[in-house]
Amino acid sequence: MTLTLNYSYRIYPDSKQEAMLDQWLEICRCSYNYALRELKGWIASRKCPADRCSLQSEYIMSADYPFPSYHQQQNQLPKAKKVFPELALVPSQVLQTNVRRLHDAWDFFRDRGFGFPRFKKYGQMKSLLFPQFRSNPLTGWQIKLPKLGKVQINLHRPIPNGFVIKQIRVVKKAMGWFAVISIQSDINLPEIEAPFGHPLGLDVGLSSYLATSDNYIEKGRKFFKTEHRRLKVLQRRLSRKQKRSNNYEKARKKVEKQHNHIAFKRKDYQFQLAHKVCDMGDSIFMEDIDFRTMAKGFLGKHTLDAGFGQFRDILKYVCKIRGKYFGLVDHRGTSQTCPNCRAEVRKTLVLRVHNCPECGYECDRDVASAQEICNRGIETTTLGLRGKETVCQVEVSGVMSLDNWRRGIPLWAEISRRESGSPRYTA
Ligand SMILES: [Zn+2]
Repeated sequence: MTLTLNYSYRIYPDSKQEAMLDQWLEICRCSYNYALRELKGWIASRKCPADRCSLQSEYIMSADYPFPSYHQQQNQLPKAKKVFPELALVPSQVLQTNVRRLHDAWDFFRDRGFGFPRFKKYGQMKSLLFPQFRSNPLTGWQIKLPKLGKVQINLHRPIPNGFVIKQIRVVKKAMGWFAVISIQSDINLPEIEAPFGHPLGLDVGLSSYLATSDNYIEKGRKFFKTEHRRLKVLQRRLSRKQKRSNNYEKARKKVEKQHNHIAFKRKDYQFQLAHKVCDMGDSIFMEDIDFRTMAKGFLGKHTLDAGFGQFRDILKYVCKIRGKYFGLVDHRGTSQTCPNCRAEVRKTLVLRVHNCPECGYECDRDVASAQEICNRGIETTTLGLRGKETVCQVEVSGVMSLDNWRRGIPLWAEISRRESGSPRYTA
């Protein structure tokens, strides 16, 4: 198994190189749209039987016109270069990966049933992928890209030993240009399939960003209040400018920059937090909640801003490279259950303390749900085998010691006994 990491560096193309990159982006955008038009045309012309008319006027491709698959369209590129000579300005591999990108979007659509690829408007194409490097393109403080030459790069952290550069994506952002470098190594990273060691449940929320089952509470950065205040000011200024004027364009750039700034800060914070969590435990459990539906609720804007989904992805990644187990548990009712006696304790969002009337257990509300998440994590995985009998044991059974523990009663007999509700068979 190989390990792939993405390192992102800032690059500083000179004005000539920048103009070139901008031109390439525009050419890629046009070819993307052209390829998408062909795809859409093919689908539209096969929507209704050939001997009938479509209700909408559609361009009909002939019946033997092959489906514009990735390889089909990629093979057309050299021919297209004769008709559109500007295509030859872009490195051919970059053009190919650009077509690949359309077909990735198309495959995604076919799998999920939503997200049909859209035409890209002017300026919406923001990255170019250089998929292959024969030799190391990095020379000290410069990076060598095909057809572009040497570009200054800020190597703020070195490429670790034993890694080779696989591909580079050049991204345009309001703050400037970036190179996302994919590096690969043959390091054998052990796949952590089963939980081990100290279990830790995590609950994320708005009042405290994160609470763990060990009673640690991370207050969070108050969701970048100052940064958002500035964003609001900038957006207000933008709204007063006349559209398509020079000043409008300047103001729009400033807004975009501020968005970038917030996103960078948030990501940095989340990475630090993820490492902190990995310091505290070995097996980490979180809820399998879909944060996007949560964001549609009344706390919408704030949940999106906190970026819980992104945090979960980052934590999963950090767990992987640090050799920790990461698991998801059922999210239903975690905040309404007592982690001590498992009774249902209803509480509204306002109530910040968990106080169980059944067993008298009292602690912070978020910590209580983190502990419940931890409980569920232990129960649904092999960690639970050490504890009392649970339903899950039946599923993972077949282990000799377990059958011994059941005093030789076969598993199927045990299951049928449970289903019929008859008393336990004793030998
Ligand atoms: Zn209780």
